[in-house]
Amino acid sequence: MTTSHAAEGAPTGRVIYAWRQERRADRRRMIRRHLLARGIRDPRVLAAMAWVPRERFVAPAQARRAYDDAPLPTTHGQTISQPYIVALMTAEAGLSRRSRVLEIGTGTGYHTAVLAKLADFVWTVERVPELSQDAAHHLAQLGITNVVFVVGDGAQGYAPVAPYHAIVVSAAAPAAPPRLLNQLDLWGRLVIPVGDIGLQELMVYRRTPTGFDAHSAGPCRFVPLLSPAAFDE
Ligand code: SAH
Repeated sequence: MTTSHAAEGAPTGRVIYAWRQERRADRRRMIRRHLLARGIRDPRVLAAMAWVPRERFVAPAQARRAYDDAPLPTTHGQTISQPYIVALMTAEAGLSRRSRVLEIGTGTGYHTAVLAKLADFVWTVERVPELSQDAAHHLAQLGITNVVFVVGDGAQGYAPVAPYHAIVVSAAAPAAPPRLLNQLDLWGRLVIPVGDIGLQELMVYRRTPTGFDAHSAGPCRFVPLLSPAAFDE
């Protein structure tokens, strides 16, 4: 007698379909409650957030909480940023379809996937090799091909292909690292949490013909950027 996968407890096509429909509904709810309601209006950012399946980037036990407006624990003791902050940082980066983007702190790769949906190309730097590898694997599974994964100290930026239209840093620094500012194109933007360990302001620096202008997009809380150029280990 042959046993089917369904009989052995593996999910059937119908169960997988129903699960995906539920997560799609979760994403629509996330967009209404956590993004639109808090002022994220950019239709391209909302479309990218509606596309990326966040549940694939969290630990399996957390999949049903994947769309809560909270940072969640992932493997390797890391956290995935909350959806509102990912959307806010992405909107502040001011991306177009032609943008070349540098991301610092790949983490799970969730934010990388959102950036890759909006921009021409993304270079993403992570200091923990295992995280970089897992993120690369997740993005390949989603069919995302416009990302290069780099392992190293992101506070140094990534000089070989600079300058960038936007640099998005997902870890906190005591001040904007000069190397990152230097790798911005004219009118390019650096989005970075600046402050103390535990509480920061989400700062946006823009390169102008005469220097930089800056504004704060609000308070935030990120893990530290571990580097001699930021928070030393
Ligand atoms: N945006 C990510 C979460 C990033 S958490 C997501 O959506 O999943 C911050 C990440 O920054 C962690 O993975 C941490 O390992 C990484 N990090 C910390 N210091 C770094 C440095 N100097 N260079 C590169 N990555 C760094």
